[in-house]
Amino acid sequence: MSTDCIFCKIARGEIPATKVVEDDRVLAFMDINPISQGHLLIIPKTHYELIMDMPADLVSHIYSQVPELARALVDVTEAQGVNVLQNNGPCSGQVIPHVHIHLIPRWPADGLGFRWPAKSADLDELQKLAQAISSAL
Ligand code: AMP
Ligand code: ZN
Repeated sequence: MSTDCIFCKIARGEIPATKVVEDDRVLAFMDINPISQGHLLIIPKTHYELIMDMPADLVSHIYSQVPELARALVDVTEAQGVNVLQNNGPCSGQVIPHVHIHLIPRWPADGLGFRWPAKSADLDELQKLAQAISSAL
């Protein structure tokens, strides 16, 4: 629990949110500044800043909500796609330091875009990185 965290306050019911569904560990609510119509957030009710801080079973539980919520979102908004996005750290775009999964409905030509610049990989470098990551597990 974090006393100053806005999402902890929402989880505790201390400030209002437009709730969609909740259980003892997870809450889904509408984003107050939606990127598109139906944009919602899923949070763990306990405070974790980064997904790397979370126990795997709680990550599993919050992500287990995604398929059904995304199906309902598509049914209601008639979206033709959904971005599932979860930022970790300010440099990734995370503004609220309490883990949250964005579900962002998408339509063709909605103008939101997504492509980030990519470059061809050096295959030796890829192999070294894969080995290093594997060894760090
Ligand atoms: P991020 O940039 O990944 O940290 O996203 C934070 C998201 O939280 C943004 O999309 C905000 O619009 C949303 N947000 C901030 N405050 C509230 C709030 N009180 N209720 C609902 N959504 C919020
Ligand atoms: Zn919090």
